[in-house]
Amino acid sequence: MLNSCRDTSAFADFPFDPARHGDYLTHLQFVEYLRDYADHFGLGKHIRLNTNVLDCVPIEGGRWRVRIQEAAGGEIEELQFDAVLAASGHLSKPLTPDFKGRGDFKGRFLHSHYYRTPGPFEGKRVAFIGLGSSCVDIANEMAPQAKELHVVTRRGGWVLPRFALGKPCEAWDSRTCSQSQHSIQADSLQAAPRFSGCLSRPTSGSWGNSSTWSSGSIPKN
Ligand SMILES: Cc1cc2nc3c(=O)[nH]c(=O)nc-3n(C[C@H](O)[C@H](O)[C@H](O)COP(=O)(O)OP(=O)(O)OC[C@H]3O[C@@H](n4cnc5c(N)ncnc54)[C@H](O)[C@@H]3O)c2cc1C
Repeated sequence: MLNSCRDTSAFADFPFDPARHGDYLTHLQFVEYLRDYADHFGLGKHIRLNTNVLDCVPIEGGRWRVRIQEAAGGEIEELQFDAVLAASGHLSKPLTPDFKGRGDFKGRFLHSHYYRTPGPFEGKRVAFIGLGSSCVDIANEMAPQAKELHVVTRRGGWVLPRFALGKPCEAWDSRTCSQSQHSIQADSLQAAPRFSGCLSRPTSGSWGNSSTWSSGSIPKN
């Protein structure tokens, strides 16, 4: 499920059809949307999938020489362009931080990038390091099956429900989808627990002063 709602996730020139999509989309629906977008604007013929850019080199006349190769291997092709836009992303490769004592941990150590289903964690004691969107999504999914679930975070954070006063939270603070000019008010958020306020018990362990949150106290979306 996307973290951002339907109306803030759309390209400005191709809004989602509210008759077809709910407030939040699944990743499969979003892929379908991207395909529809490409079809609508006839972009498919300009896109080469499964192809690696090997390098981009500036050449005479302010142009660029770009070398590409299909991911499966084969010939290296050389192309020239007037402009190059680098959009290689910063989230597609997982970055797993190292920390003291990590090598001593004998259990399974997994970056959220590789998580697929909660099944393998049934009956296990699981610790999440960090309180980002991936943590909250996966913790929600895993909570009913895990034996214990602990969230370890360096500092507190707000865990908001997806909806406040009948609208996606972010709709209150977005020109794209807000029917009201008002930003979300602190008193509207009383239902949203500050993470440190819903911890089951404080603890300290190999990750320093950390806090744990039992699976029973995870707020549901
Ligand atoms: C778990 C998770 C959930 C998220 N949820 C949301 C959400 O709900 N809403 C939201 O708005 N954002 C969300 N984001 C953030 C969003 O996915 C990114 O901000 C967005 O994808 C960035 O787009 P991008 O095009 O810059 O890079 P990317 O989507 O990372 O695309 C970069 C592409 O370039 C390719 N590439 C890299 N190097 C080369 C090369 N040498 N040759 C050819 N191709 C190359 C990569 O393979 C990749 O396909 C989420 C991110 C993650 C990780």
